[in-house]
Amino acid sequence: MDLDMIQELASESVCTRCRGRIFASSGHEMTNGERGNALNFSLEALGFKVNITGEENCEICHGMFLELGGYAGEIARRLESYEFKTFLIGTTVSKDIIENEKRIHLKYGDRGESIKKELNRELGKIVSSKIKKEFERSDPDIMVKINTEFMTIDLQIKSIYIYGTYRKLRRDLPQTRWIKYSEIKETVESIIGEPAMAMARGKNYFLHGAGREDVDVRMLGNGREFIIEVASPEIRSIDLNELKHTVNHSGQGIEIENLKFATKSEVSKIKDEKYHKKYRAVIVRDDGKPVDMENLEKALNYLNGKVIYQRTPLRVSASRSDLVRERRILNIFLESKDPPTLIIEAEAGTYIKELVSGDSGRTNPSVSELSGQRLKIGELDVIEIER
Ligand SMILES: [Zn+2]
Repeated sequence: MDLDMIQELASESVCTRCRGRIFASSGHEMTNGERGNALNFSLEALGFKVNITGEENCEICHGMFLELGGYAGEIARRLESYEFKTFLIGTTVSKDIIENEKRIHLKYGDRGESIKKELNRELGKIVSSKIKKEFERSDPDIMVKINTEFMTIDLQIKSIYIYGTYRKLRRDLPQTRWIKYSEIKETVESIIGEPAMAMARGKNYFLHGAGREDVDVRMLGNGREFIIEVASPEIRSIDLNELKHTVNHSGQGIEIENLKFATKSEVSKIKDEKYHKKYRAVIVRDDGKPVDMENLEKALNYLNGKVIYQRTPLRVSASRSDLVRERRILNIFLESKDPPTLIIEAEAGTYIKELVSGDSGRTNPSVSELSGQRLKIGELDVIEIER
């Protein structure tokens, strides 16, 4: 730096802390305030007149650091009602402050630290000592967002995630409320989510399922995996046994098991799972006449172990792209004759109703086509998910 630059540095109308921060990348053991003091001292020792500016008149920070105590008190008060282990603070300052700081830092070699970084760190230290909680950079339970321009404090509370398996003992229950059935108020999601949200004192809930069964299909056997997410919880360590007990004794036809706390990353994992499934299906003839059992059994023998081709069924074609899927029927046989009841074991993603009906030729071959009669499923249960 030449003498003119050094003179310019000494006469900048910036506070000691902000002058120190211009060179934050040198002298790692120092705070910016200490670095600024050392800098002022050296400049004066070299005979330069230093413009000692109070923080409130500083061209960069405009006294923002003097307000940290007030912010910290308010943050601590807002955090009081939450149970959490770790938190992080993120500050937004006005564009003018950022641009002004950048301009001054660039002039002296761009070796500085952003004011936001120092604000976050200093505020984190004060809040941390007030509330005795850890300041954590990666995946904190609570993110405190401060906007110094508009003087706002927002809390972003990490959701809690609870893994489990559910059994659905009813034929009138959609899995989530995103499937629109105007006459249905209850869903698997609401029966598990409402009590979970109440216990965690959260603001919302979402059920993430490892696939789903149709509204009129029961989910029996070992149950289907799910993760229930409770958004903005005040309580993070809810009693999972109590949740299980509440749901299982609510008389709403849902039973949950194997509950444990999970993480956000496990949501996409269970959503992507592709398990073979075993079904029990009671079948009837479209025309109401008795099923021709001899031809039915021939059809089942033929289908056993075969690959079928299923074009996207008409009933779901609005929400899924139209393509032909190959699925193997791993096992299919008659369990009982009266009423005709099949056990079907098939690869993940097989449309079982269409395997029986044929879906006007869109599923090929089908039980209907092979047995020469128009059949459909009367009642369907998932009896095992093979995981
Ligand atoms: Zn300053």
